Amino acid sequence: MHCGCVFVRDKFVLATGYNGSLPGHPHCEEVGCLVVDNHCVRTNHAEMNALTQAAIHGVTLKGATAYITNMSCTTCAKALIASGIVRVVVFSDFHDTLATQFYSSSGVEIIKSEMPERIIHYEIEKYSSAKRTEKSK
Ligand SMILES: [Zn+2]
Ligand SMILES: [Zn+2]
Repeated sequence: MHCGCVFVRDKFVLATGYNGSLPGHPHCEEVGCLVVDNHCVRTNHAEMNALTQAAIHGVTLKGATAYITNMSCTTCAKALIASGIVRVVVFSDFHDTLATQFYSSSGVEIIKSEMPERIIHYEIEKYSSAKRTEKSK
């Protein structure tokens, strides 16, 4: 499953992440899943990867909104709450977890939104700053 997480505050993107293996480690698609207790434990979830990116860059997530593809798992929800996230926007429900319960009891606002269109319409010709050079024609 492809999941993404973007932390935003005051219309600025603070950090992003998607679910995947540790840097330099093989992916499940290549070597198969690493299953413990019926769950694949090879990858970090999108929220964790976004969180670690924020940590690496020394960015605080206090007061930020988390846009996540699916409702967090319980572990990620707790990490986001502890990081100071005040709002989560989710585009689809995940399996049953205690995430919703933890978010609610911590005063984190949950907004369920329609999945945006997967196609991005971008007409580059409309932007004067994106004029083609002789080379790119
Ligand atoms: Zn896997
Ligand atoms: Zn998670």
